[in-house]
Formats: sequence, structure tokens, C-alpha cells
Amino acid sequence: MGCGDNIREGTEACDGTDDLACPHRCAADCTCGPITCPTIRMTQDQPDDQGGEQIHAIYVLPSDGTDELLDTMDEICTSVLAWNKWLLGQTGTNNFRLDTAGGVLDITFFQSSMTDYQIRNSGQTVTGGKHPQVRDTIQNELFAAGVIEDPFAAYGAKTKLYAVYYGGTSDFACGGGALPPGLMGNVAALYLKGDPGCSFVTVGGSIDNPGYFEFAMIHEIMHTIGLVPFCAPHQVLGGHVPEPNDLMYGFDGVHAWILPPVLDIGHDDYYRGDGQPCTDLARSAFLDPPVPNADLPPGWGTPIGSSAPGQASLTRSQDLRTGLLENALPSPSTVVVLPAGVK
Ligand SMILES: [Zn+2]
Repeated sequence: MGCGDNIREGTEACDGTDDLACPHRCAADCTCGPITCPTIRMTQDQPDDQGGEQIHAIYVLPSDGTDELLDTMDEICTSVLAWNKWLLGQTGTNNFRLDTAGGVLDITFFQSSMTDYQIRNSGQTVTGGKHPQVRDTIQNELFAAGVIEDPFAAYGAKTKLYAVYYGGTSDFACGGGALPPGLMGNVAALYLKGDPGCSFVTVGGSIDNPGYFEFAMIHEIMHTIGLVPFCAPHQVLGGHVPEPNDLMYGFDGVHAWILPPVLDIGHDDYYRGDGQPCTDLARSAFLDPPVPNADLPPGWGTPIGSSAPGQASLTRSQDLRTGLLENALPSPSTVVVLPAGVK
């Protein structure tokens, strides 16, 4: 009986090898220890500690990009742990399930066959000659190379959402996400050298003090889950809300994004918990610990345990026909309010 018998009992989060809640991370006092950061570069997804939906980090470089070792020198790992810790602080109960291997954050490294110039100018061209589809290009190449699951597969064929830290440029934004069901995909991406001014922002400075890139990444992850849904009462600008100090603020051209932001101010748009048939972070299948009656992102298929009819997955051509463009992040150059202690 008690802690140390490899049987989880009473209030124990885990006990030795009985560690379902945190595989390979059970501490001697039967609490879950922290996820540790990798020091060895991996070029493929490692064997998962846990099944089910989870978020997997990837460091992508263009063929001519400068390798800053962000995957093995803690920057990406710290960034991921920082935005996930912030999320736990906001909900008080849950954050996202992260892909770990042996208790270590699983980060994949991938070097593109395309140059920074080629990636930056790929895809559609919009007003001002800008290119909003860097994320799509990266997503397509990662899938073609066998690094990620099929971005457009129906349920059963994919369980992962990819948080891509791209060490290249963009003439459009500092990051982009999918926004299902209109824009299907499984990659949320940051363009670390993007314009305007993204490269002046530090990535992964501190677990306790997330900065612009941390909030930007979790903003793009929320989009890729299907948030802010168009059925939310205050949704504006294609998946955003109007409050400048909200995580999902959409830049209105005037008011700067205020950091650190709040998760769904008023809990009435995308973290509601109201049981209504409108995509809700509170029911996301990516949450840790898992929540009852969890939903996959819209268009990913029928969730486990749901009796609702499956929602057909969009095909590639349907996706292209929607003509939906990437969601531009509020630029860091517009961020003017940074409270003391926050980088
Ligand atoms: Zn956005």
C-alpha cells in the first residue's frame, strides 16, 4: 500500500511504473515530474508515450537557413512548455497533451529542399504582392516527406497537431494556422524570421514568462483546432475576437495586441463549457487530462464516444476552392503593452 508499490492509489497521480497520467515521468513522491527537454536531434517522430490526440513540435529550416539548434538547445522546448503552462494557469484544470518519448518532449527536425526565397514566395499572391501560404507549403512538404500525418485525412488516420517553428521568412505575417472546417490542416506555424520584425522577438526565453512567440504559437494552435468558431457571439475577422487583450484578438488595424493576453474573456466565445454545438476548447480532444465527450477539430471526423454522425472531411480540392487564406497574426511591432517582468 501507499507510494512506492507501483500501484496508483488514493490521491497519487502515479506510482512508479503505474504512470498512465505521465508516462516515464513519475517522481519518487508519486507526483508527475516535469517534461524534460531533448538534447539529441531527431528527424522522425519517436515512439509515443501516450496514444490519442497530442501536439508535436517540429523545427523546420529552409535549405539555406541558419541552423540555430533551437530543437536541441532548449529554445523550442522552453517555448512549448511556456505556452502550455500559461494555458494551465488560464483554465486551472487542463492544458494540451504534448507528444513525449520517454518523458522527453519529442521535437522533430526537418530541413526543407526549398530555399527561404522559394518558400516565402510560394502559394497565392494577395494584395501588395504578399504571400500568405508559407504554412501550407511547409505542411505539404512535411507530409510528402513522411514527417507528419496526412493534413486532410479523416478521423482514424490522424491524431496529431503539429507546432512548427520555422526558421525562415514570410512577407505576410509571423505565423499562420489552419481554421477548420473551412481551412483544413494539422500544422500551426511560426515564421521566426518573418516580416515585419518577427526576428527581433525571442523564442523560448523562459517557461514562466511567455513572450510574443509563445502567445503567437498557442494562438495559431487554437485556430488549427477550429477556434474561434464562426458560431461564437463575438467572432470577428475570420476566427478572432475583438478584445485586444484576448489570446485570439484579431488586429483591427488600430489597437495593438496586449500581452500577456487572457483566454476567452468572459468565457463566452471559444472556452465556454456550455455544451452547445459550437466548437469549444473546453471539449477539445487535445486537452490533458482528457475531458468527457471530447471533440476533434471540426471536419476531423467523429469523436470517440460520440453518437453524432460523422462530419465528412474536406478534400484537398474542396479546401483550395474555399479560397480561405491564412490568418495573419497581430504583428509584434504593434505590441505596445508589456507588463513588468514579461519579455
Ligand atoms: Zn489569428
